[in-house]
Amino acid sequence: MTDDTTRGDVRLSGIGKTYGSFTAVHPLDLTIPEGSFFALLGASGCGKTTTLRMIAGLEDPTTGTVHLGEQDVTGLPPYKRPVNTVFQSYALFPHLDIYENVAFGLRRRGVKSVKKQVGEMLDLVQLGDKAKHKPHQLSGGQQQRVAVARALINHPRVLLLDEPLGALDLKLRRQMQLELKRIQTEVGITFVHVTHDQEEAMTMADQVAVMNAGRVEQLGAPADLYENPQTTFVANFLGSSNLIEAEIAASSGGTLALKAGDGKLSLPAARCSAPTGTGDKVLVGIRPEKISLAHADDAREITEGRNRLTGRVAATSFIGVSTQYVIDSPVCEGLEVYVQNVERDGRLAPGAEVVLHWNPDHTFGLDAAQD
Ligand code: ATP
Repeated sequence: MTDDTTRGDVRLSGIGKTYGSFTAVHPLDLTIPEGSFFALLGASGCGKTTTLRMIAGLEDPTTGTVHLGEQDVTGLPPYKRPVNTVFQSYALFPHLDIYENVAFGLRRRGVKSVKKQVGEMLDLVQLGDKAKHKPHQLSGGQQQRVAVARALINHPRVLLLDEPLGALDLKLRRQMQLELKRIQTEVGITFVHVTHDQEEAMTMADQVAVMNAGRVEQLGAPADLYENPQTTFVANFLGSSNLIEAEIAASSGGTLALKAGDGKLSLPAARCSAPTGTGDKVLVGIRPEKISLAHADDAREITEGRNRLTGRVAATSFIGVSTQYVIDSPVCEGLEVYVQNVERDGRLAPGAEVVLHWNPDHTFGLDAAQD
């Protein structure tokens, strides 16, 4: 390998996979920067595992190429690629202790003195005191950490993780998300992580590719995807979104004025991924936690310049950190609103006439004709 090929960025160019007449992955281009924590996120069957397996060399692409740094690895078998994979099933050797499980990759390469490296790896995953245990004596999360240590021992340029936390219960999953992120930061290599759990991807990844039906629907940093989704799929897959049908009434100074029944709505043009001509239809998106709720009698106190809709409380439920309201509005039924620290004085009980209002900068606009 040349110096260039030791770089850990992954470049997929026109990579695609068909099985007979079924297209699992449509040709896609993706660059995963060296040293980043990258997530492939999507529902079951969207093609994320197939994409990962093509990077690993476990699946031959039908079209396109895979580069690691400058090296074209498309035709190389998995063991000749500077990558390693961690699977959901930890695939540890049950008869070997933790130390020998981690040492396995080194011994297979004929490395004689493994003690220092195995010790460092066990320390990295904080299992130094479990070296003599057998896998069945560890918890699921600990076993998965052994699998990570074993995969890292040969210093791959890229670590591929295929739903590695899928078998863990929710609490352990949350702990392991932070743990994996810490390990990635410490070793500094590229991690490519496949998951269907949006919270997991958002917690860990620097960049997320949201996949849908064999295509990358949107690529970006978690906050970017959440605050500025470009499609209804992304808006609904990452958290929940209220989507209100509206029409563009006017456009001036980078702001779109929208008509939606009696609602007064505006939207920064830069946050609209739909056509922005007068009369064009647009889906106005607003996250439930960005909305404030006022009793209709108090509507006069709402500051000018805020987006507002009238409605009636259909249901409320207390969900701990906040109260969830479902509001039926003349322009949209079943709007969701989460309010923190609401005064529980009964004025916003089901049946109450209310005004929903929010900062227009939190609004995003989607193409109503898209799906
Ligand atoms: P999951 O989270 O359920 O694993 P995924 O997003 O990872 O889903 P893939 O495993 O990449 O999805 O599969 C994408 C599509 O390709 C699915 O519809 C799957 O049924 C199909 N597929 C995968 N492998 C094969 C195969 N060997 N032969 C035929 N179809 C396949």
